[in-house]
Amino acid sequence: MAAPTGPTRSQPPSAFEGFPFPVAGRPLEDSSGKQQEQTGDVKKKPCRACTDFKSWVKMQKTQATAAAQETKAAESEPLDPQCPLDRDELGRNTWSFLHTMAAYYPDHPSATQQQEMGQFISLFSKFFPCDECAQDLRDRLKTNQPDTSSSHALSQWFCRLHNDINIRLGKPEFDCSRVDERWKDGWKDGSCD
Ligand code: FAD
Repeated sequence: MAAPTGPTRSQPPSAFEGFPFPVAGRPLEDSSGKQQEQTGDVKKKPCRACTDFKSWVKMQKTQATAAAQETKAAESEPLDPQCPLDRDELGRNTWSFLHTMAAYYPDHPSATQQQEMGQFISLFSKFFPCDECAQDLRDRLKTNQPDTSSSHALSQWFCRLHNDINIRLGKPEFDCSRVDERWKDGWKDGSCD
């Protein structure tokens, strides 16, 4: 039996989605909605971890023809593992860490461990370097506190959280009954052995 595959790469957001500050080369809007030129002191490098690679490529070019070529290149070439992460790479790597951390969390954590794991997730939501993602997570945590009572409970909590985000992004839901196969034991068909 083939192992379930994960969701595919997300659709690119609008070019400037998730940017917490003015982007170099992008006209600013004043309070009336009119565009104005940026001054030198507000120009900053755009945040690569706040967007996906295809949109990042679009932001780097200045001519429409160059944009078409670079977007095509971004779609056909794998990302260089030695380059800074874009939002999707950051997300994949972070989910790998979070699900693996839950898989190896104690079955019977002490009260201190439970409290500290809750604190870790709360602090994580403040420093995750994708502003849109972090804000969304902080909003979810207001009504959906982590279940840190055991490895199983925490793994399921992360799986449901990830699925909520999958749904928001239009990705397939993952079967949470198989979360240990994916993140700890390997698939039952032996394909990871
Ligand atoms: P990912 O969603 O990264 O999944 C990686 C692998 O995890 C999959 O291949 C699959 O094997 C496994 N998996 C999938 N679902 C589950 C599950 N429910 N439980 C266990 N394992 C699973 N991106 C945005 O565009 N906007 C956001 O607001 C946003 N918020 C995020 C918040 C957090 C906390 C994190 C960690 C990431 C966020 N991301 C967000 C990134 C997004 O979730 C994806 O990581 C990114 O789009 C890449 O998706 P992907 O299809 O490669 O697989």
